[in-house]
Amino acid sequence: MTTATSVDPKAVVAYYRTASTGELIQRADALCRSVHGDKVWLRGLVEFSNFCGMDCQYCGIRHSNSKVERYRLTPEQIIDLTVQGHEAGLRTFVLQGGEDPWFTADRVAQLLDSIKTRTKGEVAITLSLGIRPRETFRLWKNAGADRYLMRFETSDPDLHARLRCGVSLERRLEALDDLRDLGWEVGSGFMVGLPGETEETRIRNALLCYEKHFDMVGIGPFIPHPETPLAQAPQQPLELALRATALVRLLLPLANMPATTAAGSLDKQGREKMMAAGANVLMPNITPEDVKKNYLLYPNKICLDESGFECINCLDIRTHLVQKTIDYARGDSPSWRSGQSE
Ligand code: SAH
Ligand code: SF4
Repeated sequence: MTTATSVDPKAVVAYYRTASTGELIQRADALCRSVHGDKVWLRGLVEFSNFCGMDCQYCGIRHSNSKVERYRLTPEQIIDLTVQGHEAGLRTFVLQGGEDPWFTADRVAQLLDSIKTRTKGEVAITLSLGIRPRETFRLWKNAGADRYLMRFETSDPDLHARLRCGVSLERRLEALDDLRDLGWEVGSGFMVGLPGETEETRIRNALLCYEKHFDMVGIGPFIPHPETPLAQAPQQPLELALRATALVRLLLPLANMPATTAAGSLDKQGREKMMAAGANVLMPNITPEDVKKNYLLYPNKICLDESGFECINCLDIRTHLVQKTIDYARGDSPSWRSGQSE
């Protein structure tokens, strides 16, 4: 059905439909360990701005939520965080934010250049800033960015357009294709448990990840935020996200997959459970404590009171609980590396 080098997606989905969660997870875990060993890559996450021009119905920092205290780190603050992270041994940073027009194409390009210089070219930079024009993606790649994260959120086109205020799934996928064409290491993924989603949607989500052969796939439970139009949506159990993680791992053995903060926020052991279902990445949040409480995409987010650097010790312990070991190296996705040598 799946080995490290060959995948039969139909057989994987047929298996998924009938397998118990325990069995599915065990199989995904075994495959993950056979490809990635027991390693879990660390990525320092910087949530640099919660200004957003978009109004996604699921998101706590959507433009219309007037209760959010907005903040924007300065480029100097972002550079300092990456320098501090580099000194602490981190070799990958994820710079994430809302679709904030202050961060123009040129400002981000300058920022990338400064980070690369100040960290001696030793770090990989992942951007997660939403949809931008192809030419902007080209500029940023040339300025030294390595990877881009942009979840497609749901593969159901109607649900996508409804939840993302008219932005089509097609446009999101076009932007992901642009990144791929331009040589980025491409990450995407989806939320699990959105209102209107079905089991078939989740299977199509996973198959879309397979078809697009994403190098990284982030999967997290949807957690309803009280100040959004989806406030009354039911909270679906973490198990659905664990099953989706295992399914994507079986379809994409080489992909890097984070044990997401949303999973850890819904369940105290959520990240351990994700790591035991095929995830191989953790993202300590090194955003300064005074602002990270304002980057609330969903409620009850964990690790808000401590520095991300302190979090690394906690993550180390959690990783050992599932017989894995954290690794500070860049951790390029093996699928992207093999594509580069083609
Ligand atoms: N603005 C960028 C990056 C920030 S949002 C973008 O939208 O791509 C990062 C991710 O947070 C989104 O892709 C979405 O999957 C997730 N997210 C948003 N609201 C959420 C919620 N209520 N519960 C769980 N995850 C959520
Ligand atoms: Fe903005 Fe991203 Fe939230 Fe949508 S999900 S409102 S684009 S931060």
